[in-house]
Amino acid sequence: PGRLQGKTIIVTGAGSGIGQASVELFRREGATVIAADLKGADHVADAGNEHDVVRLVEMAREEHGALHAFFANAGISGGLASIFEQSPDDWQEILRVNLIGPFLAIKHAAPLMKERGGGSIICTASVAGLRAGAGGPAYSASKAGVINLVEVAATQLAGANIRVNAICPGLIETGMTKPFYDWARASGKESRLGSLNPLKRGGEPEEIARAALFLASDDSSYVNGHALVVDGGLSVS
Ligand code: NAD
Repeated sequence: PGRLQGKTIIVTGAGSGIGQASVELFRREGATVIAADLKGADHVADAGNEHDVVRLVEMAREEHGALHAFFANAGISGGLASIFEQSPDDWQEILRVNLIGPFLAIKHAAPLMKERGGGSIICTASVAGLRAGAGGPAYSASKAGVINLVEVAATQLAGANIRVNAICPGLIETGMTKPFYDWARASGKESRLGSLNPLKRGGEPEEIARAALFLASDDSSYVNGHALVVDGGLSVS
C-alpha cells in the first residue's frame, strides 16, 4: 500500500508547479486528493477566500467523510520589486494569498481533523521567509509570517493531534520562477542558476512534493511546528 493509502488531502495551488507535482505524487501514494486552484485543477477555489476554503473542507467532509491533510501551497510572488516599487495594494494581495490563505486552511481544516482524531497541515513558506535576497519585500514578509503562524498553530492544535509544519523551498523551476529561468537561458546565464547553491542546480517540483509527502504521512508523526528547508543548501552557503 502507498504511504497515503486511505487518506483524503486538500492541495491548493494544485494547477501548476509544486502543487501539481504534489497532487500526482500523493495520488500515486494512494491518497484521495481534492486539487484546487484558480485555474488548471479539478476544483476552482481562491485559497485566500474564506468561503472557498470552507467549501473545500465541506467537500472533504461530505464526499469522503474525513480530512487527513491540507497542503496550503498556493502563493504569488509579486516579482523582485524593491520597497519603493510596492504599493499597499500589492502588499494586501500578496499577504491575502500567501499568509491569510494558510491561516484559513488551518482555521477550517482543524475542526474536521479534530473530529476524526487528528491530521497534518503543511504550508508552503520559502527560504525568502528566512533571509533577505530571495524575494521581494511583501513576499518575504508573508513567508516569514507563514513560518511563525505554523509555530503558533502547532502549539495550539497539538492537543487535537494535528501537526502543523512548513516547507521552505529554495529555487524550484515552476510557473512562478519561469520568467527568471527564461531570462537566464536567453542570456546564456543558465549556469548562474546552479551556481547559486552548493548542489549546483535548481530544484524540481517533485523534490518539494516528496518533502510534502513526508510531512503529510505518518512517517513524520513526531515532526511538529517545523520549517523544513528544501533548498540544496542555498540558505547555508
Ligand atoms: P506556480 O506559479 O507554478 O504555482 C502556484 C499556483 O498557485 C498557480 O497554479 C496559481 O494559479 C495558484 N494560485 C495563485 N493564487 C492563488 C489563489 N489565490 N488561490 C488558489 N490558487 C492560487 O508556483 P510554485 O513555485 O509551484 O508555487 C507554489 C508555492 O511554492 C508558492 O507558495 C510559492 O510561494 C512557493 N515557493 C516557490 C519557490 C520556487 O522557487 N518556485 C520557492 C519558494 C517557495
